Amino acid sequence: CGIVGYAGNLETACDKPLEVCLQGLARLEYRGYDSAGVALTAPGMDHVEVRKKAGRLANLTEDIERRPMPQATVAIGHTRWATNGVPSDVNAHPHTSRDGKVAIIHNGIIENASQLRLDLQSEGYRFASKTDTEVAAKLLGKIVDAIIAEEGAPDLFKAMRRMARMLEGAFTILATDCRQPGIVVGARHDSPLVVGLGEGENFLGSDVAAFVAYTKRALEVGQDQCVCVSADAVVVNDFYGNVIEDPSTYTVDWD
Ligand code: GLU
Repeated sequence: CGIVGYAGNLETACDKPLEVCLQGLARLEYRGYDSAGVALTAPGMDHVEVRKKAGRLANLTEDIERRPMPQATVAIGHTRWATNGVPSDVNAHPHTSRDGKVAIIHNGIIENASQLRLDLQSEGYRFASKTDTEVAAKLLGKIVDAIIAEEGAPDLFKAMRRMARMLEGAFTILATDCRQPGIVVGARHDSPLVVGLGEGENFLGSDVAAFVAYTKRALEVGQDQCVCVSADAVVVNDFYGNVIEDPSTYTVDWD
């Protein structure tokens, strides 16, 4: 339902990625939701740090106050409006890959999730939740593993493009991988995704409300496009890896 993402300085992990996500989720509350969650990554982590709770955003923030989360360089946050699977802690986003190194959040509905789930189950993948989103999380992790086998290093942006070509239905997806703690990658089809352009930091949102407190310069990711966002760069591709040159930017008019 609501999506926010943040990519900051790779040299200094700090509390800002989490703060941006929690504030962005609060700004997106007007859309309605039943659960909320965040995932954080920083250099040196061997898995993505995920926290998620059914119910009000306050349930999540209180849980984080009781058990603080580590400092990070990038983060993603989600408020869920359940379509596949009841509202619950387990079904809340983010969802993770089998090894816990990749986390994703998703708006929309993946129409071919049941078939993809069966395919993954036949390869031994197990699922904690009833969501279509967890299918994409397991699939993205599997594709990253395949790229590591092919090329010797993870490439989350390439993995996201490959996955986007396999998904049917409507989706905005953001992902983070603890092995690439300087980037957040996204993809969209029939669902919106906007980048907020900062100075030495960049933002992502399902709409500009997610980041308008930090920057009013925005870039709209187009239909069937993927984006790779770091602190200093925003690269837009189509699902086949062709670079979209000079994507148009605009200034948000916000009262
Ligand atoms: N289909 C996903 C789910 O049920 C995402 C719903 C949403 O857009 O929040 O978890």
